[in-house]
Amino acid sequence: MKWTSELRLLKDYHPSDTYNEIIIAGPCAIESHEQIEEISEFLKELGIDFMRGGAYKHRTSPYSFSGLGEKGLKIISDVCRANKQLVVSEILSIDQLPLFDKYVDIIMIGARSMRNYPLIHSTSKLGKPMIIKRSMDSTLKDWLFAAEHAFYHGAKDVILCERGVKTFDPEFRNILDISSASFITENYNIPLIVDPSHGTGVKEIMGKVAKAFLAIGAKGYMLEIHNNPAIAKCDAEQALTFEEFKKIYDSHKEVLSPLNYS
Ligand code: PEP
Ligand code: MN
Repeated sequence: MKWTSELRLLKDYHPSDTYNEIIIAGPCAIESHEQIEEISEFLKELGIDFMRGGAYKHRTSPYSFSGLGEKGLKIISDVCRANKQLVVSEILSIDQLPLFDKYVDIIMIGARSMRNYPLIHSTSKLGKPMIIKRSMDSTLKDWLFAAEHAFYHGAKDVILCERGVKTFDPEFRNILDISSASFITENYNIPLIVDPSHGTGVKEIMGKVAKAFLAIGAKGYMLEIHNNPAIAKCDAEQALTFEEFKKIYDSHKEVLSPLNYS
């Protein structure tokens, strides 16, 4: 792949934080203080330090719940700071940067924004850790160059998140690309995680998929969980219950810790 020679900054990148593992969980969308508190407490009991929650949601329909905005960011920030957890949330536009600077620890560039270079540039300038999700219609090259853009504009720490690309198969929300992920873990030091929630949309296979990515060197995974999935305002069908999430988390601890970080 000739174009890889142009990934100058990615090639030399060594994360300043050598995360052993990056396990991120939380709801698709922040809905209320009670919801975030309950989920955060549950994650704290498991020893999970990263909590996700969307305050601004890209929705297909303008009539769907699109997030609580600043109120949501304040809720997740208050709860997570009290519980010593890091807040992961997706930014949608440049004008939201001051709020993300104030409330969010790891700023996520969502799949739909992976090619929004002005947003990547401005976010990178903040110097906060970022997650760059793969766009659903991007090649490996497009995705890695999004990270190169981030480093070029001052990003210090970047995590890549494979969330799947479009598939012709209606049984799955997307299809996860383990070849691209393996190429990345083989050639670069940038931490890579997988999002089996959006990557599959199918609860019963999320644990196995996460394990497969850990086995090829992913640093962790991000999963959507909810204290009451039946009433979730966004992505309810793919939200794991606490019990379902714990089962996945416990099985990784047993099976993969010797494999993963040697
Ligand atoms: C999300 O993680 O909340 C999300 C919307 O995912 P994606 O950008 O991968 O579609
Ligand atoms: Mn979601």
